Amino acid sequence: MNHVTQAKVVQVIEHSKVIREYILELEKERKYNPGSFVQLTLDLVTASDIWPESRTFSIASYEKGIMKFIIKNVGFYTSRIFDELGVDDKCTIKYPFGDLFNKNFVNEKHLFIAGGVGITPYLSLIKYYELNNLLNNISLFYSAKYFKDLLHYEPLKNVLGENMEVFITREKCTGCHSKRISIENVKRIADKETNIYVCGSKSFNKDYKELLNENGYTKIYMDEWE
Ligand SMILES: Cc1cc2nc3c(=O)[nH]c(=O)nc-3n(C[C@H](O)[C@H](O)[C@H](O)COP(=O)(O)OP(=O)(O)OC[C@H]3O[C@@H](n4cnc5c(N)ncnc54)[C@H](O)[C@@H]3O)c2cc1C
Repeated sequence: MNHVTQAKVVQVIEHSKVIREYILELEKERKYNPGSFVQLTLDLVTASDIWPESRTFSIASYEKGIMKFIIKNVGFYTSRIFDELGVDDKCTIKYPFGDLFNKNFVNEKHLFIAGGVGITPYLSLIKYYELNNLLNNISLFYSAKYFKDLLHYEPLKNVLGENMEVFITREKCTGCHSKRISIENVKRIADKETNIYVCGSKSFNKDYKELLNENGYTKIYMDEWE
């Protein structure tokens, strides 16, 4: 059963002109798995109302009482969110959705592959692994066009250390790979038993799904946004 609650914006962080992080305080909270997503509507409704127009966003945090979302302004509704949702404003969220996380598999190896804003579902998953002292089971490949585009780089590096590799595709970068993620990079980290997650743009997801399939990987989980 999905839960509907109103939530108040307590902070908005502007990562760039088109990417904002919204930090919301929930009126009523319920348990959810890391890697889950919500439906967010600007309308103030309750569970018994007809659900209005909304968009889906990954929960980019795993903390009590608050939820963080990283939203890229790409179209009709996200531009409404940018215009209409500021500090102290309220919206309604319905959650949790999604099955990216399975508690039975936490002791297995996991490789998270993120392109750009596709880092969002992993932020809550990484927090879960950190809180449960299971960080040795996860690795992150994080790709972006430019180094400045990386979201939460410092905190991720502090938590993951060597288990995070950064791939920058449009500029030279020290301490990271100045190229796309290749299958050789994946093979160095992941064997056929590794659970591999992919989240990025439509073309990023398509390319890596094909590449992984062609190379015999079967435990692939996609977080597809379109
Ligand atoms: C499971 C899941 C998790 C998601 N998590 C996130 C998240 O954490 N953060 C996030 O930002 N988004 C996330 N999304 C995507 C989000 O739900 C919206 O689909 C997205 O933000 C677009 O909504 P919109 O109304 O702004 O765009 P719409 O107006 O509905 O447009 C949809 C798409 O069409 C494109 N488009 C619109 N108009 C044109 C045009 N004239 N020409 C060409 N292309 C056009 C837009 O670029 C956009 O990509 C997630 C989606 C899913 C399914």
